[in-house]
Amino acid sequence: MGATSATAAAPARVPFFTQAASFESLWPTTRRHLDQLMDRGKFSHGPKVAELETVLAAWTGARHVIGVNSGTDALVLLLRAAGLRPGDEVIVPAYTFVASATSVVLAGGRPVFADIDPVSYSLDPASVEAVRTDRTRMVMPVHLFHQLADLRALLEVADRHALTVVEDSAEAFGMRWDGVHAGLHGAGGVLSFFPTKTLGAIGDAGAVLTDDPAVADAVAAMRHHGRTGPTVDDFPTINRPTELLGTNSKMDDIQAAVLLAKLDRADQDIARRAELAAGYTERLTGTPGLTLPTVLPRTAATNPVWYVYLIESDHRDGLAEHLARHGVQTETYYPTPLHLQPCFAELGHRRGEFPHAEAACERALALPLYPDLADHHLDLVADLVRGFQQGKHR
Ligand SMILES: *Cc1c(COP(=O)(O)O)cnc(C)c1O
Repeated sequence: MGATSATAAAPARVPFFTQAASFESLWPTTRRHLDQLMDRGKFSHGPKVAELETVLAAWTGARHVIGVNSGTDALVLLLRAAGLRPGDEVIVPAYTFVASATSVVLAGGRPVFADIDPVSYSLDPASVEAVRTDRTRMVMPVHLFHQLADLRALLEVADRHALTVVEDSAEAFGMRWDGVHAGLHGAGGVLSFFPTKTLGAIGDAGAVLTDDPAVADAVAAMRHHGRTGPTVDDFPTINRPTELLGTNSKMDDIQAAVLLAKLDRADQDIARRAELAAGYTERLTGTPGLTLPTVLPRTAATNPVWYVYLIESDHRDGLAEHLARHGVQTETYYPTPLHLQPCFAELGHRRGEFPHAEAACERALALPLYPDLADHHLDLVADLVRGFQQGKHR
C-alpha cells in the first residue's frame, strides 16, 4: 500500500458484509472440492452441482433441489414450472426485494400488490383477500429478514380460493414451520446464494426447492435450454429436439464447491447470527424512537434464522448518515415499495395505497450482521445508534 492522501476515504470500520476471516478457515475444504472439480474438468452443471443438490435436499428435507444461477432465475423458472400462464395474476407483497415481482413479469404473469403486516413485514392475509380477482392464479408469500410469513393464515386464504402457493424463500435458508423447511409449503420455493445471504456463495447462485416431481422436472429442463433426459454427461442430447422453452441458468461448480464447504458449518453460522442478534437487542432495548425486530409467536413451531437485523427509526436517513460518518455501513431494506417502482409504473399505483409497505420503506434500516462480526463491533454500532437516537429525543 502506498501513502494515503488526506482525501482518500477510510475503509469502513464495520462493513455491511464481509467474510474475509471465515473464508480463510473454509479454504481447506473448499480447496478439496475444487481439486476434485479440476480433476473431473466439468465446470458448469457438473458433479459438484449434483453433489450440492443432494446435500441440500438432505439438509432441507426437500424431495428435489435444482441448482440454478441465481435466486431470481429460480423464481422465474419455478413460476413457469408451477403452471403460470400468460396474463395470470400473482399476489406479491409491496414490500420486498424487487425480484419477487419482476420474476412474475419475466415468467409472463402480472404482479398484483398487497400490503404487509407491519410487524412481520410479510403479506397481510386480509390485504391478499382484498386485492384478489378472478384472474388471480398464485400467491407468493415472501419470508423476510429473520422469520417466516404467517403461513397458516396465508395457506388458508390460498386454499379458499384455489391459489397456487409459490414461496419466495430466498432469504429463508434454515427457517422451518413445524419442521418443514421454507419453500416446501406449496408448489415450491427458492434459495438465493448471493454472497450476503445466510448460505452465501462467492458470486451468484440459487436453487429451487420442491416436493413435486413434475415441477422439479420442468425446472431442471428449463435451466438447461429445455433439455430433458440425461444431463451434460450425455453429449448427444445436444442434438435432441427441444420441447420446453428453456434458458441458460446452469449453476457454476465453483459456487457449488464453496457452498458445500459452507454447508459443513451452516449450523454454527446460524448460531453465531442468533448470538449477534440477541446482542443487538440487549444493547438497544429501550432506545427512544427505535423499533427492534420482534419474533412473533406462531401457531406452529418456528425457528428464527437471523439473515438481517432490521430496526426502524423515526430518523432513519439521519441515523444511516451518522453511522456512515463513523465508519459503520448499513443497508436500506427496501428503499422503494414495489408499487412505486418506476419499472411497474404502468400498473398505475399511487402513494398511500399500501401504507404499511410505504412506512417500512421510510423507517427500516439493516445493521451489519454476519458470522465475522465481533462483539466489540456490536458495542460500537449500538453505542452510535443509541447516541444518535438520544440526541433526537432530548
Ligand atoms: C436475494 C433475494 C432474491 C433474489 O436472489 P438473487 O440470488 O440475488 O437473484 C429474491 N427475493 C428476495 C426476497 C431476496 O432477498
